[in-house]
Amino acid sequence: MKKYNCEEIYFKYDSKTNLRAIIAINNTKRGEMCSGGVRLRNYKSEDEALWDAFNLSLAMTQKCAAINANVGGGKAVIWNKKEEKTPALVKSFAKFMFKLDGRFRTAVDLGMDFKDGYIIKKECPYVEGLPQKYGGLGTEGDTTALGVIKAMRIGAEYLFGTRSLKDKIIGVQGLGNVGGYMVKFLLEEGANLIVADIDKNMITKTKKKYPSVKVVAPDKFLSTKCDILSPCAIGGIINSRTIRSLKCRMICGSANNQLENPEKDIKQLEKTRILYLPDYIVNAGGIIQAIVEMNKGKKEEAIENTKVIEKNIKYILKEYKKGKKSTLAIADELVESRLK
Ligand code: NAD
Repeated sequence: MKKYNCEEIYFKYDSKTNLRAIIAINNTKRGEMCSGGVRLRNYKSEDEALWDAFNLSLAMTQKCAAINANVGGGKAVIWNKKEEKTPALVKSFAKFMFKLDGRFRTAVDLGMDFKDGYIIKKECPYVEGLPQKYGGLGTEGDTTALGVIKAMRIGAEYLFGTRSLKDKIIGVQGLGNVGGYMVKFLLEEGANLIVADIDKNMITKTKKKYPSVKVVAPDKFLSTKCDILSPCAIGGIINSRTIRSLKCRMICGSANNQLENPEKDIKQLEKTRILYLPDYIVNAGGIIQAIVEMNKGKKEEAIENTKVIEKNIKYILKEYKKGKKSTLAIADELVESRLK
């Protein structure tokens, strides 16, 4: 907890459903109420689940601070197999979360869907990002994708001298909630897309909808030559083993905690001259929408508010141009100043 500066951790085991859940409250300096998604993964171990909860809740603190929101950072992880995700298990998680009395609010993340979100909401009202029929503002995936693309355009201007993404070769890893919208919006901008997903159904669905996308095998994705690499699946994919095979000019995607070892990996990326746009700055669209929803605002307002991402990336690249600090160091300093 000290290493991640994490204030509170809650564990839950329910023998009836085999629910194994963790809620991490990372930081309440900017607000007693914390927000962050709930993720379900079949982690290899309890340590790995806890590591994810620490890292993801820290990322939420960073996102909230970077967008100047008066909300703290938290995250929930459920360590179960997809097949174990029964309505009873999700309900049991909701009851666990309810005990925090609204100090932690959530939205569905990796491995969870709207139906799960609705089950949670029936037991515990602190859920954002559900479809309108369930009383929410709708998916946060499109708002997140729009924020990522706003950041990408500023990065493109820095590297290629134009904000246009037309004819740029962009690799999208993960075709889920955010990745699916990334594909849609980037194709509308005239980009050429290379995609990968470990789920064959997602590939089939995407290829049917957008025949022009080129598909690569998941294990070949990171070494595929492209202008911009957009990780929109899992974290930890940029690391000392993968950096040397990267063939892109910029990394800008929605996935949380893309760098496995941020301090080391950013140094290695700097040597390769690949521009890294910090994940917690570019993927803040989800929390931006959640905050608008908490304040009973509209979807359009959430989309409009993603311009703060553009502003933050412009600031980071202006400082980066001075050649003294990495993009990540500048983003971390921005967060630190806002937490003070
Ligand atoms: P999702 O579960 O809807 O989709 C993830 C997709 O990635 C799935 O189709 C999955 O099969 C695929 N995938 C998993 N591992 C892969 C791998 N190794 N290679 C290729 N594909 C792989 O999740 P999502 O909501 O789209 O979120 C994607 C990422 O963005 C996550 O890291 C999430 O934390 C982050 N994020 C999401 C939001 C949001 O609004 N949903 C907001 C901010 C950040």
